[in-house]
Amino acid sequence: MSLDTAALFERTAVHDTPADEPLRKSEAVRIGETLKLIPPDVRTVLDVGCGPGKLLGRIDRPHVFGTDLGRVGLRHAPKPVVRSSILQLPFADDSVDLVLCAEVLEHLPPDLVPAACAELYRVARRHVLVTVPNREQLLEASHKCPQCGHVFHLHGHQQSLTADTLRPLFPAEAPALVRYAWKVRPYFTPLLKLRTHAFGLWKYSPHTFCPKCGHDRFENHEGRLLYKVFGALNHLRFPRRSQDNWLLLRIDKTPAGDDR
Ligand SMILES: [Zn+2]
Repeated sequence: MSLDTAALFERTAVHDTPADEPLRKSEAVRIGETLKLIPPDVRTVLDVGCGPGKLLGRIDRPHVFGTDLGRVGLRHAPKPVVRSSILQLPFADDSVDLVLCAEVLEHLPPDLVPAACAELYRVARRHVLVTVPNREQLLEASHKCPQCGHVFHLHGHQQSLTADTLRPLFPAEAPALVRYAWKVRPYFTPLLKLRTHAFGLWKYSPHTFCPKCGHDRFENHEGRLLYKVFGALNHLRFPRRSQDNWLLLRIDKTPAGDDR
């Protein structure tokens, strides 16, 4: 089983970072809100797709461990880890108090997301806690390969998720808690299409490659005057940071405090 994103994390340095590296402010807020959603009586936590373990290392419970498909991140993990696919977790049914899956599902091919959610739910004894980018405008963080013309998301995101699309992937009878973290400015879609497809100005990341042809040398357009003009126009259209950047969803397989 191979996933594009696993290849991205194996080939680039994006996961080759120490788990205790200082967090960006937005990341610190998301991680803080995620930790708040772990009920106090949870003793075992499995972090699925833990990467280098920035979140894993900050979970203070008696038994905390992680899994990831990428070897590069696992080398940095500050707690016990095992390499595995999210689609086949090497754990028994109902074996972990809380199964966490942070910033992973958006990377999967869309048709695999339901099976991944079912697998998280299978292993969880009490709770599943999922975080994803909320209603992400994929085009905003995309780049067009100068070699083959393929347009791809810089971080390998393959879909934009919302509470309305994620919630139904878990059993309806399990209560759900929805939270949001961090506000960002939306990008006015017609303006974004103009910037990218018409003017050829794309967002940049040093840690990426074209999933179609493997090309990995991209120009950074973000410093260009016209790129900034588009940003300023968008600022006029959306003066406020009105969009919730992250969705946090906790599914309670058994209610908190109901220790059966
Ligand atoms: Zn290409």
